[in-house]
Amino acid sequence: PPAIRKISEKFDKPFVTGCSVPQTDQPRENAVIVVLARNKELEGVLSSMRYMERHFNRHFNYPYVFLNDGIFNETFKEAIRNYTQSEVEFGQIEPEHWGFPDWADLGEAQEAIAKQGDQAIMYGGMASYHHMCRFYSGFFYKHELLAKYEWYWRLEPDIKFYCDMTYDPFVEMKKNNKTYGFTIAVKELRETVPNLFRYSSAYMRNNNITSQGMWEMFAEPKPAKKEEEKNKDNLPEDVLKLEPGRGKPVEVDPTAMEGEDYNMCHFWSNFEIARLDFYRSKEYEDFFQMLDKSGGFWNERWGDAPVHSIAAGILLSPAQIHYFRDVGYRHTTIHHCPANAPAKQLPRQKWYEPYFDDKKAKEEDSYWDNWDAEKENGVGCRCRC
Ligand code: GDP
Ligand code: MN
Repeated sequence: PPAIRKISEKFDKPFVTGCSVPQTDQPRENAVIVVLARNKELEGVLSSMRYMERHFNRHFNYPYVFLNDGIFNETFKEAIRNYTQSEVEFGQIEPEHWGFPDWADLGEAQEAIAKQGDQAIMYGGMASYHHMCRFYSGFFYKHELLAKYEWYWRLEPDIKFYCDMTYDPFVEMKKNNKTYGFTIAVKELRETVPNLFRYSSAYMRNNNITSQGMWEMFAEPKPAKKEEEKNKDNLPEDVLKLEPGRGKPVEVDPTAMEGEDYNMCHFWSNFEIARLDFYRSKEYEDFFQMLDKSGGFWNERWGDAPVHSIAAGILLSPAQIHYFRDVGYRHTTIHHCPANAPAKQLPRQKWYEPYFDDKKAKEEDSYWDNWDAEKENGVGCRCRC
């Protein structure tokens, strides 16, 4: 699909190419690694942390914040602390930031979710998944443990990083006036977001916002209607099903999507490096409030990825977005492996600080070799220093 292919042309080149000695003596940014998880995901979290530490954070030691709607148990906390020498904090999410708000009609919301389950919409029948998406769309950056930070890097359980990152992405983003960074863009499942774009479009019009060049990445011209369809109701059937979620009525301009439609392209937000003040801005908050009041976080299954992406489409310019094409990344079946241009090799000892104990280090070493051997679409993802 052209929308995805265009990405490599639209955005900037890597900040740094090849390997360098990590500049660990330069000032760090005010940044944090954020992990939302449940106790039962401990193993997946540790695996992600291992990749994060080995490839990046053992040099830079950025702190971690772990968030949970429940309470992290001691086993979880203890294990996490053993996997990093960085500062670690654990927080519980306030009830006001998770679950159905009090203005929502609980019965209707639960019914809508059950129906999405029946329709086999991916994760559509899981209330907790809806809560997670809504939390990442409108609340994570309001958590008190993140209040002191300006930047975050989102980390999920069961991800892999293939490449060593020998520079500080926060420092580079700051230096280059970047707001939002991604490494993978994919297409959303249309049935999870039938009306998200209509609301987004209406938000833009209602607030007289003009695109700074990002909107066009998500909005594509709609083919003109055939004569015989013109007299029919303008709204596609799915639009009529979305009722305002019993909050403040949402004004949606029915012509808001005339001529264009969402191409389903979005930044895959399970990897995300961004400025928190983007989300803390009045514009983003208004956008989120409008979306939230529409009820789409349960009447449909809006993901935080399309929400963040479209918000970037409305409020940012391409120059503020960074494509981390140099970050080799995998989550579930989707992965990104940068072209493996031979980089200057440094002696391994440089990279192999005695952070893990000897026995572990040995295991890790063979693990590394497995990564080398791992075939990604027939191309080995080799991008270690
Ligand atoms: P997927 O990547 O879209 O398949 O979704 P995940 O199941 O990985 O969820 C995305 C993120 O939200 C992960 O970091 C999960 O650990 C976290 N998450 C999902 N549901 C819940 C939940 O009910 N409670 C908590 N605390 N975290 C959750
Ligand atoms: Mn996941």
